[in-house]
Amino acid sequence: MNKIALLALLFFQLKATAQNQRPNIIVFLIDDMGWMDTSVPFGDSLQPLNKRYHTPNMERLAREGVKFTNAYATPVCTPSRSSLMTGMNAAHHGITNWTSPWRDDPTDQADKEFERANWNYNGYSGLSEVPHALQATPLPMLLNNAGYFTIHVGKAHWGSIGTPGSNPYNLGYQVNIAGHSAGHPQSYQGRENYGNIPGKASVQAVPDLQEYHGTDTFLTEALTLEAIKSLKDPIENKRPFFLHLAHYAIHDPLQPDKRFVQKYLDAGLPAQEANYASLIEGMDKSLGDLMKFLEARGVANNTVVLFMSDNGGLSLVPPRAGTAHSHNLPLRAGKGSVYEGGIRVPMLVKWPKNSKAGSICSEPVIIEDFFPSILEIAGVKQVKTVQQVDGKSFVPALSSTTIKNNPDRPLIWHYPNKWQVVDGPGINYYSAIRKGDWKLVYSMRQQKLELYNLKEDIGEQQDKALQHPEKVKELSKLLSDQLRIWKAPMLTYKANGNRVPYPDEVKLP
Ligand code: CA
Repeated sequence: MNKIALLALLFFQLKATAQNQRPNIIVFLIDDMGWMDTSVPFGDSLQPLNKRYHTPNMERLAREGVKFTNAYATPVCTPSRSSLMTGMNAAHHGITNWTSPWRDDPTDQADKEFERANWNYNGYSGLSEVPHALQATPLPMLLNNAGYFTIHVGKAHWGSIGTPGSNPYNLGYQVNIAGHSAGHPQSYQGRENYGNIPGKASVQAVPDLQEYHGTDTFLTEALTLEAIKSLKDPIENKRPFFLHLAHYAIHDPLQPDKRFVQKYLDAGLPAQEANYASLIEGMDKSLGDLMKFLEARGVANNTVVLFMSDNGGLSLVPPRAGTAHSHNLPLRAGKGSVYEGGIRVPMLVKWPKNSKAGSICSEPVIIEDFFPSILEIAGVKQVKTVQQVDGKSFVPALSSTTIKNNPDRPLIWHYPNKWQVVDGPGINYYSAIRKGDWKLVYSMRQQKLELYNLKEDIGEQQDKALQHPEKVKELSKLLSDQLRIWKAPMLTYKANGNRVPYPDEVKLP
């Protein structure tokens, strides 16, 4: 063999090796998990709620990876899940509220004052064109095209029945276990077949998983066992994989995970709260089991684990016990709200080869950032997408805590929908923007702008709008300009058909 041929052979061998070494990627997505629902403190100090919950495997992931203390999702499920798949902000993709399992069934509560906004209530339909649905290139399809084996396990909730997005295969997944149109399980209990009881099954009965029917296997455990099974082939075939393990936990129904519930009852928690804590610990065990499996198969060092929740913790009664809107303290309110309790979520990332173990990143990031970050981790470049991507990669923040992408980058939430029958703090018809330490909250119903300094006041108790009118002006213009550019769904008044003002059209106090 001459020198040139030898060099060429070496080059191709190196290239092949590099391709084989592309990192595996796991998104470990929790449903409705609040910022305080863990023994890992995401705030400056350990809070009473951190002491209530036991998440030793999250603690381990935080020790070995990067803890993001200013990570955000949207106030409810489908907007966040669609942002993760497309890299678009919810105000841009137009799925501003959770989607019904049924087609053409907007989930907004009726309101005396407002007409329903024209949002994408059929959800996300991948590359297919469907009325009132988002058409955009899905992340798993791009990864699959790049050679990744793509797996979805658990809750999907991207599109309504009868639309392409109801089936994860249409978004580029090669495997789908237990994902469909519904946003929560009918039952977590294997003894109840996860809801699949003849004559009693609702649209929320969890598909697949028949081998666990009639057993004591809790849904979280069944999904974990199936996720682990699905990884065996790609690992044996040395094919990089993308696993989207989206647990149904810890969404209601708040049923007890019997493996863990007793100790919380013994600690004196009311039944619902003990159940809630057991759902959290069951989820945490799943994380631990998955990490142990990766180690046993020798792939842990080449696997990136991204832990995220799709919105803040539920804080309404029922089914929670105690005072409504207090379950994420010191954060204000909970799921459904644009206050911090509804949108700030726990986020951890471990990339053994590139992240700095035990580091803390305070840079504000949001769920659409997962899209460009995951593509960067996978080494997928020059991506062509139908949509304009809004997210920014947080990969630079993994290797250094001092390099900041853009700490002053504005983050936006837009929820022109009625989630609950009764209005609550930051719940029903709100928008918000955060830039640096400042956050502006816009109530569409009250035509009111509030201003908070999150560094001094993470609980959003002291409205500083009167003291800082220039900041209110700056942020309301930034927010409004972006809503106009994105053609975000807007409300109209029933009385006269007029559009609700953009925040920069509201009279300042
Ligand atoms: Ca959710």
